Amino acid sequence: MAVESRYYEILEVETDASDHEIKRAYRKLAMKYHPDKNPNEGERFKEISHAYEILSDAETRATYDQFGEDGPGHGGGGGYGMSADDLFANLFGGGGGGGGFDFGGGDFHGMGGGMPRRPRKGESMKYPLAVSLEDLYLGKKTKLALEKNVICSNCEGKGGKTGATKKCGSCKGRGFQVAMRQVGMGMIQQMQVPCADCDHTGEVAKDRCKKCKGKKVTVEKKYLDVFIEKGMENGQKIAMKGEGDQEPGVEPGDVILVLNQKEHPVFTREGSDLKCTVKITLTEALCGFDKVVVTHLDGRGIQVSNPAGTVIKPGMVKRIPNEGMPTFKRPENRGDLYIEFDVEFPPDHFATAAQLSNLETVLPKRKRETPKEELIDECLLLDANMEAFGASSNSRNAYDEDDSEDEEGQGGVRCAQQ
Ligand SMILES: [Zn+2]
Ligand SMILES: [Zn+2]
Repeated sequence: MAVESRYYEILEVETDASDHEIKRAYRKLAMKYHPDKNPNEGERFKEISHAYEILSDAETRATYDQFGEDGPGHGGGGGYGMSADDLFANLFGGGGGGGGFDFGGGDFHGMGGGMPRRPRKGESMKYPLAVSLEDLYLGKKTKLALEKNVICSNCEGKGGKTGATKKCGSCKGRGFQVAMRQVGMGMIQQMQVPCADCDHTGEVAKDRCKKCKGKKVTVEKKYLDVFIEKGMENGQKIAMKGEGDQEPGVEPGDVILVLNQKEHPVFTREGSDLKCTVKITLTEALCGFDKVVVTHLDGRGIQVSNPAGTVIKPGMVKRIPNEGMPTFKRPENRGDLYIEFDVEFPPDHFATAAQLSNLETVLPKRKRETPKEELIDECLLLDANMEAFGASSNSRNAYDEDDSEDEEGQGGVRCAQQ
């Protein structure tokens, strides 16, 4: 008994129309309103497709008949993951995705007969796959254990010896059970929930299979070989075609692995380029060096030299060509390795006064700018960090009097600007 019939009206069929009638009606309307032929009727085409999507599947049709558009599983329109175009392609056996339909000929009845309808496809399942930057650099073959539903080998997905079914006793064949939910003081709301005993089909197998207990599928662990190719990127997907859950009469969906690269302690990656920071001493920065600056992802030491006379300034960036990541599908093409230099200065009091004046003789001359005497004010130079920058605001002083007094004592000495 249909509580709502809008989808039937959209397809211009009776509420007791057979699957065949529904399919035929959809075919006729979809051709009439397909956007390729009728660009102004895009909305209408979508509506028709959605109605067909619901009514062409026994399960969603039953749910719709019982609960209407707002019933369980109907997130309002398009909740079944197929676009109007995919549905259309499915029905007409096209490969889907753009073009392929010739509306010029006009006679679509010729296509009718033997066009095989592709079986419904199960949902794809996405899993993250943690990988290291080394894996992405070198490539890796790995195994992934996957627990999934497979068609029961004992009953071949029939659920029982014969495949015969009987009405589910728990829900009396309705596929739904009534649950009570308390909604506030003494008020009870009745809710219909899918019957777990029959997986809301309303039917259970006669002479149930012992292996799958009539569920038609069993959970099995399967090991998938996964190839992480050189140059793959964080977030890249590896599709394992047809490795999703199996279900009788449904083409299994894909298992999609989404690469999730762990942060690397040394290198960061951007596209095919790598970057790392290298610490050198002030002596090396000024006097040159020839050494291994970093160990690469494949364990090679990367040796570079900076000739004496070429000064490396703190934060300076250099580039080593072709030592970045391999390019996906073309691993012989590599990006570059960028090196940012961090110059380590010597500690306090590293030299005597005499050595310093000696050192000064080779360093660039001091610049002395002497403004007029009366403008000079001698100030303290204290250690500081930028986290404290801005902390000496008026409002803070007002609330943390004690604090600011403390600072006044040791660190907060102000340099009067007069
Ligand atoms: Zn079985
Ligand atoms: Zn049931």
